[in-house]
Amino acid sequence: MSLVIKGASLLGEQTTDLYVDDAGVLVDSAPDGAEVIDADGLVALPGLVDLHTHLREPGREDAETILTGSQAAALGGYTAVLAMANTSPVTDTAEAATRVWELGREAGLVHVQPVGAVTRGLAGEELAELGLMHRSRAGVTVFSDDGKCVHDARVMRRALEYVKAFGGVVSQHSQDPALAGPSACCHEGELSGRLGLPGWPGIAEEVIVARDVMLARHTGSRVHVAHVSTAGSVEVLRWAKAQGISVTAEVTPHHLLLTTDLLAGYDPTFKVNPPLRPQEDVEALRTALADGTIDAVATDHAPHARHDKEHAFVDAAFGMVGLETALAVVRTAMPDLSWADVARVMSTTPARIAGLADQGRALATGAPAHVVLVEPDAEVTVDREASASLSRNNPWHGRTLRSRVVHTVYGGRVTVRDGHLA
Ligand SMILES: [Zn+2]
Repeated sequence: MSLVIKGASLLGEQTTDLYVDDAGVLVDSAPDGAEVIDADGLVALPGLVDLHTHLREPGREDAETILTGSQAAALGGYTAVLAMANTSPVTDTAEAATRVWELGREAGLVHVQPVGAVTRGLAGEELAELGLMHRSRAGVTVFSDDGKCVHDARVMRRALEYVKAFGGVVSQHSQDPALAGPSACCHEGELSGRLGLPGWPGIAEEVIVARDVMLARHTGSRVHVAHVSTAGSVEVLRWAKAQGISVTAEVTPHHLLLTTDLLAGYDPTFKVNPPLRPQEDVEALRTALADGTIDAVATDHAPHARHDKEHAFVDAAFGMVGLETALAVVRTAMPDLSWADVARVMSTTPARIAGLADQGRALATGAPAHVVLVEPDAEVTVDREASASLSRNNPWHGRTLRSRVVHTVYGGRVTVRDGHLA
């Protein structure tokens, strides 16, 4: 099981060999009988960490399972993913969280960290078993009703107060249901009017982000804003961080590259929540990610079975797959982002937000060997059929993206070798 990773460029800078002992830890010298991985020309980063993955198990194993989602994650260079709670049943008890955690360990390809629901059944009314989930073997620290917004300010306040006691965080899907109801599916603007699609205005996100940063300030607790999509939300975050409020935020790869005009053909592949926005929002999100106003990239990998996605646009399910392409999309959208910054926004900071002490660590002696090796300037044309995910709702199909994940190492175990599951 020991490894020598030969000639990798650490964060795109100095070239070095990395040694991994048979306990899966980075060490100073080459262990005897180690497998040698030739990393000449490859960039080494700490394994990626995704704050926002939908694995669909339990309940929708036709769309994804914990195993297939873990495979997709490994192929994307991930060594940890946070599995969202909107499964069936919902992850709102210690027992349900522990089950997801165990299935992740059985798959053994990435660390699968369950996210606990904020409210029972995602109904937005009574708090779920937050403390019991935290104290379970799964050690849940991130809570989210994602897919739904915790829209009742009183419930959100109580959740923030509760998780503060153990250093937890509430990850909010910011969507005021009065301003953007359940059928809202297209950025509200000239295009939504022309297409006759229910509009999802940016203000529906911004009012919740603004409210939640004030609740974080009031409670002294920590809020995380999932999938930020508008320039207005960025302005609020910039202000809140300047005040020292404990708020962090993520952006998805698709919101960094795709724009609302893709909806002109009514292709449900591009139906996602929050919706794709105009170019000026995309520009603001890129700037905010580069300057640290947005802390992390998170995929919102949302696999859907064909029969849920292939409908008239208004009836199709929201979401797109993204684990396997995330790094390449970020590199394509923001080619000037340094490798140190890529590691910061896709590994180190998400690990810190999620409280995963063994993830996102610098590749130095004594750290667990969670490593991704990337061919930096490869051009890869995405084929949605070439995927470990069970779902094919892939908005990148046919596009050429920059960079390729070549090898992934999770705790010393090679999970991906030469771009294929090991
Ligand atoms: Zn969401």
